[in-house]
Amino acid sequence: MLKAKSKLQTFFIPDDRWFTLAPYIHYPSHYTEAEAERFTTVIAHESQHIKQQSATNKWWWLLKYFVVPSFRLSQEAEGIACELNALPESARAQVTSAYCKDLSSSAYTWAAWTEDDALEAIHEAEIRLFKKTF
Ligand SMILES: [Zn+2]
Repeated sequence: MLKAKSKLQTFFIPDDRWFTLAPYIHYPSHYTEAEAERFTTVIAHESQHIKQQSATNKWWWLLKYFVVPSFRLSQEAEGIACELNALPESARAQVTSAYCKDLSSSAYTWAAWTEDDALEAIHEAEIRLFKKTF
C-alpha cells in the first residue's frame, strides 16, 4: 500500500528517500500517489521490505536494520535484487554500481565495508531470490 511520507517522517528521513514500514510504502511527499505508482522498480524493492518486515516483528526488524550493518546489507541486497529483477537488463549494471557505492557510504550508513562486499551481497540475494547465476 502506498502512502505519502508524513511531516514527521520527512524530518527524520530525507524527503527524496522512500521508506517502508509494513503495510505501507511511504513515497516522497512531493509526489502524488499516481506519480508514485509509476516507480514500479522502487515499489518492487520496497515490497521486499514489506515481506521481510511481515515475516517477523516489524519494530524488531526496524531496530535491527538501524543497529546491525550486516543485517541492513542483507535486507537491502534483497530489495535491490527485486528492483534489478524488475529493470530491463540494459539498466542493471548502472543501477547495481550506484547501489554498491551507496551501500558502502553514508547513504546506507556503511552497510557494507566496500563496494565489492556490497556487490557480493547483491549477487547472493539474486541467487537466493531468483536462482540467478553469475
Ligand atoms: Zn531498501
